[in-house]
Amino acid sequence: MEYYGADISNLIEELSSLPGIGSKSAQRLAFHIINMPQEQVDSLSNAITSAKKNARYCKCCLNLTDREICPICEDEGRDHRQIMVVENPRDLAAYEKTGKYEGVYHVLHGAISPMLGIGPGDIRLKELMVRLEGDVDEVIIATNSSLEGETTAMYISKLIKPTGIKVTRIASGVPVGGDLEYIDEVTLLRALEGRTEL
Ligand code: ZN
Repeated sequence: MEYYGADISNLIEELSSLPGIGSKSAQRLAFHIINMPQEQVDSLSNAITSAKKNARYCKCCLNLTDREICPICEDEGRDHRQIMVVENPRDLAAYEKTGKYEGVYHVLHGAISPMLGIGPGDIRLKELMVRLEGDVDEVIIATNSSLEGETTAMYISKLIKPTGIKVTRIASGVPVGGDLEYIDEVTLLRALEGRTEL
């Protein structure tokens, strides 16, 4: 892409390094950005910089946020005695979109995968166990129904059992191997309502 000159080629190259963006889309986006009013371009680049600078994990649930405690954990209207365990913030967002779940979450940031060499110590389980020392009625395990998700669910349930806290697993209405974030809200709700005790 020499013919565009260094600045434009750089932009195209940076954009094409993003997931899901091929070189054609990168070109299209680059031209779009170049044609945007300067003000809008500034606000886009500021949004990227400040989101990156301020992003952190909630001290309580480890959801991605820009404050110490995320808005969900801060919400006193929610049931803090019910904790849904998810693999990543996108899965949390999927359940939040249903608008029907009133408990709080715990984000593991991964799943156990012996094949990839990811063990229990590599995901945020320790933080979950610390939370369980408080007042908790139920832990709902909503990891994906992939091999890794199931392995993680089994592991967590064994870990929590001795504490006497109720452990449930969302129903298998969620397709095997399916990532929660791609599943429609009705199916997610049905999976939540049909959860079974482990
Ligand atoms: Zn939180």
